[in-house]
Amino acid sequence: MPSSDSGTVHIIGAGLAGLAAAVRLTEAGRAVAVHEATAHPGGRCRSYFDHVTDMVIDNGTHLLLSGNHAALDYLRTIGARDLLEGPEAAEFQFVDLASSARWTVRLNNGPVPWWIFAKGRRVPQTRARDYLPLMRLMWASGDRPLNELMACDGALYQRLIEPLFLAALNVRPVVGSGALARALVRETLALGGKACRPLIAPDGIGTAFVEPATRWLAARNVPVKLHHSLHALRFAGARVSHLDFGDDLMPLGDNDKVILAVPSYAAAMLVPGLQTPTAYCSIVNAHFRIDPPPGQPRMIGVVNGTAEWIFALPGRVAVTVSDAGRLLDLPRTEVAQRIWRDVAAVMSLPADVLPPWQIVRERRATFAATPEENAKRPGAETGWHNLVLAGDWTATGLPATIEGAIRSGNRAAGLVQRHPLARPAAA
Ligand SMILES: Cc1cc2nc3c(=O)[nH]c(=O)nc-3n(C[C@H](O)[C@H](O)[C@H](O)COP(=O)(O)OP(=O)(O)OC[C@H]3O[C@@H](n4cnc5c(N)ncnc54)[C@H](O)[C@@H]3O)c2cc1C
Repeated sequence: MPSSDSGTVHIIGAGLAGLAAAVRLTEAGRAVAVHEATAHPGGRCRSYFDHVTDMVIDNGTHLLLSGNHAALDYLRTIGARDLLEGPEAAEFQFVDLASSARWTVRLNNGPVPWWIFAKGRRVPQTRARDYLPLMRLMWASGDRPLNELMACDGALYQRLIEPLFLAALNVRPVVGSGALARALVRETLALGGKACRPLIAPDGIGTAFVEPATRWLAARNVPVKLHHSLHALRFAGARVSHLDFGDDLMPLGDNDKVILAVPSYAAAMLVPGLQTPTAYCSIVNAHFRIDPPPGQPRMIGVVNGTAEWIFALPGRVAVTVSDAGRLLDLPRTEVAQRIWRDVAAVMSLPADVLPPWQIVRERRATFAATPEENAKRPGAETGWHNLVLAGDWTATGLPATIEGAIRSGNRAAGLVQRHPLARPAAA
């Protein structure tokens, strides 16, 4: 571990925000220790062996876009950029289960969106002028529900905007934050196809985002202490004085810092008076152990089904359903059957023969990306000189995504370096 003369940065939480902060600070030569409550790093972005299907599955298939520059930089640093895969061009395939219609949206690479003028590239049954509200959205100010900023109906909405925004916001787009939708458009669609290539980790998100990071940190003698849950922060004046891990009360030196990179509900319990988002949306993932039939697209968006995105992966098919509250209280077998029916229809497989399956329900997958909840997101700095916040729920300007989590970790690392010496504690 590098010299700790300038203090150690204790990072609480080994999700992607915490891991990104650890990588940044280690690169900058700072002494770092990561403390994770559970038995595994990765938080809400993890892979694990599932005994029912007898295969390694992700808690959810994570989709990135090629414009997610912080996430891609992080992967480059830890040597894992090649583990993400995607098409050469920004293409999105869709199927409508009500009509069996299939179409592919093909964005051109540059920022001038001539794809909306090309019938074979844009959404069927739309005209170029239907896309104007998306451009107007970019210039709207303030934060209001999306349905106050644009009409949330019609072919373009149902066949492109709703599936994309629902996946990114994890809330019904009609009630979703216009400001977060705007950020998405600015960072991806508005930059053209080169920022919109869909990328996934076919061999698992743990293999791409987590294990290379912990290996990279271990090679630099940065400990990631598992089963090391922070029970409380102890304060003295304007600084954190101790980290209370239950049976281990760790005093902090004058130059030590803390990056709290835990989920919002955990942060709210640890930091007095902290306002955070309090409403959450779930994500349900279904995993089926089956070799996808040859010729299936790597991913396909589903309209008018229970399934929303179907991923054809090596030896398995994975399905994502966002803002999935309606599925949480149904029996798991019924959820699996409903989703499998959609997969079978899309892939021309028998609907009544379910392969080995697993359903993963993440109840608090992300904060609800509505204007009300978005307004509750705190910045990274706190009232304590040596305490900084990170996490996808902090005010990143982005929805709760890998990109937002990693940017928040980078921002926290930057703040810690900007104030290398702790200010003296208040009397
Ligand atoms: C099913 C699902 C699908 C998703 N799909 C996508 C997608 O397609 N694309 C995308 O970009 N994003 C997606 N996301 C969102 C993405 O996973 C998150 O935004 C990101 O992983 C959040 O990282 P984080 O570090 O902010 O928080 P977390 O991952 O929640 O990490 C926080 C860590 O802190 C630890 N912790 C909590 N309390 C303590 C304590 N007291 N002491 C020590 N440690 C503690 C936790 O165990 C955890 O490891 C998805 C999320 C889910 C759940």
